[in-house]
Amino acid sequence: MHLPYGMAELRPTRVVSADTVRCHVVGCMVEVPRQRRRFRADNTYLCLQHGIYLSPSTFQYRDPYCNLLWRDDTDRCCLQIVESVKRTMERLGRERDEDALTWNVVRAFEREGRLRALAELLTGEGCNLPPGEPQVIYWATDLVKGERWRLLEQAQCEFGESPERGTEPDAALYWPGEHLVFVEAKFCAPSCTTPSVKPRREDERPFSYGGHPHFSRAFKGSYHQIAVESRMYQLMRLWLLGSWAAKTNGAAFRLVNLVRWRKEADIETRFGGRWCRQDSARRFRRATWEEIWDRLPETGLSDRTMTILDQYLANKSAGYDSYGSLRRAFAPRTERMGGR
Ligand SMILES: [Zn+2]
Repeated sequence: MHLPYGMAELRPTRVVSADTVRCHVVGCMVEVPRQRRRFRADNTYLCLQHGIYLSPSTFQYRDPYCNLLWRDDTDRCCLQIVESVKRTMERLGRERDEDALTWNVVRAFEREGRLRALAELLTGEGCNLPPGEPQVIYWATDLVKGERWRLLEQAQCEFGESPERGTEPDAALYWPGEHLVFVEAKFCAPSCTTPSVKPRREDERPFSYGGHPHFSRAFKGSYHQIAVESRMYQLMRLWLLGSWAAKTNGAAFRLVNLVRWRKEADIETRFGGRWCRQDSARRFRRATWEEIWDRLPETGLSDRTMTILDQYLANKSAGYDSYGSLRRAFAPRTERMGGR
């Protein structure tokens, strides 16, 4: 199978002019007009030979499946269900899309019945997890029932969110009534976010989130301190809704911020330690994509799947930086061991 383009196929240094962008694939001479600001997947910017829309800093596949590792009929069927609920599948074709990365990694474990092994890697806890495979939920979609995930919908409703714009983890692993793991996956975007500004009407969120009785049970600070001053809006919502849903269903809760090794090194202190009321029943943890990559041999995945994931993570690119150099997505082990 063809893996998505990465470090091996793309130019180390982009070729652009004030008005044009040459296709980022090594050896390709196709040039398209240079697009600016918001990325547009428009035929004007398409390299027909490689099936990618180009901007100076990144690309997007015309066929989103080219960006995905798992594309057989069952996978496609799952994504069709997700699409019917989530409706933003086009973005899965983007080089820097965190949903595509999440799907490629988590789905690998699901396909081989190794989600519990993934949960061990993510939470750093083996013996605390219930036996058996958890249910997996991608972006709030219950694939078994083909609808929005009820558990999350109830939490969204409890905190006054509309389901279309509600808080959702990128992936959730759930042993019903026992253990709930929310995964907030980050690739190129930062974990720190603030509430969007609502200039036209009164902002109800300080009340619907911050005024809820569960808020003070979950946090050691106010809505304003955590969401606005500390810019932990997104993590705050996930901790709030997840811990509420877990408690309501008699389950333990873990929130995992899955990031790149170079990023958010102190998030456990800055968010978990400083703001979250943690105990044995609920914890916040940082995990890295690189940890998963390193520890693939421990997961029990088949050799074929492990090889595909290993090649994918090693080759994964993260767009061109402002100097025009292609960025490697994940730090190779040698770099993390102290080399450069
Ligand atoms: Zn091309």
